[in-house]
Amino acid sequence: MEKQARIYVAGHTGLVGKSLVRELNKKGYTNLLTRSHQELDLTRQIEVERFFSQERPDYVFLAAARVGGIGANSSYPADFIYENLMIQTNTIHSAYASGVKKLLFFGSACMYPKHCLQPMNEDNLLTGRLESTSEPYAIAKIAGVKMCEAYNRQYKTSFICIIPSNIYGPDDHFGSQDSHVLPALIDKFHQAKINNFDSVIVWGSGNPRREFVFIDDVAKAAIFLITSYNGSTAINLGSGENISIKELAMVIKDIVGYKGELIFDNTKPDGAPEKSLDATKIRKLGWLPKTSLEEGIAKTYLGYQTAVKLSNNEAETGVKKI
Ligand code: GDP
Repeated sequence: MEKQARIYVAGHTGLVGKSLVRELNKKGYTNLLTRSHQELDLTRQIEVERFFSQERPDYVFLAAARVGGIGANSSYPADFIYENLMIQTNTIHSAYASGVKKLLFFGSACMYPKHCLQPMNEDNLLTGRLESTSEPYAIAKIAGVKMCEAYNRQYKTSFICIIPSNIYGPDDHFGSQDSHVLPALIDKFHQAKINNFDSVIVWGSGNPRREFVFIDDVAKAAIFLITSYNGSTAINLGSGENISIKELAMVIKDIVGYKGELIFDNTKPDGAPEKSLDATKIRKLGWLPKTSLEEGIAKTYLGYQTAVKLSNNEAETGVKKI
């Protein structure tokens, strides 16, 4: 990828997009194209076509997506399938039509079957039924992967797909029913600590196993792959270490410094029993994550505290800091 290349980062205000912009700038890629949601609604075909034909990006990181945790996926299944299908279909097709040299699409570990052999390797896609809570999202993401493969086959495009495990980082979406587990628990433990709550509620049994990858490692891997990977099949991006939700809760509890109890709420869904990725393929290409889970959670907790302080200052002064 040439340093002067026109690189469109779709979704640059999200967790992945923000980190991509930071890493690309650090590496000397300065000709970045970004558009806010107000400037360009990726669900609108005509707007996307106009953007690509006017701006003619050379490379595209397709990090725009409707994302959320198990609660959000269960509450808004229609939004998850509709918005993701629209965003990716419009972007992938316009990238082809305007002659983009290479595009990188972000898939998701939810695309693998619910009862997949662990760790899940790329050949396991479409070999079994999906986990019901994330099925609409997963179907949209699978469609994106298959669309890239189809365009590569028919139109000789170079559209690659990565399948990250659960991504987390300081710019995450914290503290709501819609968050993913890691930022949700950081918020819960922090709130419990400062309010002296006796206990924190953790959803489900605590038994499901998940794998987490820190955002800056994801952004570095994405840049590495767009410059070095030309395979037409999707490639896993995982840390190689999995952890149960109960163990994760204990690690976060320690880092936040909360002393109370954990209560497991079995009325909440567990989701898939395990989502561990086989990272053999990406390891062979020479990529390794740099951030341990403890280090990543500590950085994420710092990011969370900064965000909380900023919003408290805003509440006190009535001035919104930008
Ligand atoms: P998933 O990986 O698609 O299942 O999505 P999540 O990151 O939302 O949830 C992962 C696991 O963490 C599930 O088993 C949840 O039940 C469990 N979990 C425990 N506490 C929480 C919480 O406060 N929020 C969320 N989102 N998940 C939680």
